[in-house]
Amino acid sequence: MKKRLKYAGLFFVIILVCIFLLLLFRYFSSRQIDDVSPEIQCDNALLKKADILYVIPIFNNSSISENKEWCDSILSLNKTLAMHGVYHTYHEFLEDRNEAYLQQGIGEFEKCFGKKPDRFKPPQMVISKNNKELIKKDMKLNFYLNEIFHKTYHCSDTGKYSNKFIEIF
Ligand SMILES: [Zn+2]
Repeated sequence: MKKRLKYAGLFFVIILVCIFLLLLFRYFSSRQIDDVSPEIQCDNALLKKADILYVIPIFNNSSISENKEWCDSILSLNKTLAMHGVYHTYHEFLEDRNEAYLQQGIGEFEKCFGKKPDRFKPPQMVISKNNKELIKKDMKLNFYLNEIFHKTYHCSDTGKYSNKFIEIF
């Protein structure tokens, strides 16, 4: 009985140490912000704080490439830029998409920033198996592991966890 209690205690300590190490890792690893778009109000301080900006190429049927001023202001932040969906509709990448659909987003991204994205994160972190393969032909897919090891803010603060929560944990 005593021995069992000792193991339970040890297990508990190991879990606590793992959580602490994860929080420490998150604190020092690169920070990200999702839902970057000229159509979505975004806290400037958060944009500056983040290292990687996940941009929505076409939101509310308006493309980022139509707003050169915005493109230049984002470029001037000198951050790593990544792609976050094409239209960012609800569960956009749960339905199988084709190369032409994806290229539409990549094209608008390139017109805006002068280069193609090399990372992609699906809206609401939902993606079908076929779409995973489609994305991986052109870009690195950022998925759950990425979200666990990096703090991710949201421009509109509509993420699963609020920006304030992310700031702390
Ligand atoms: Zn999003």
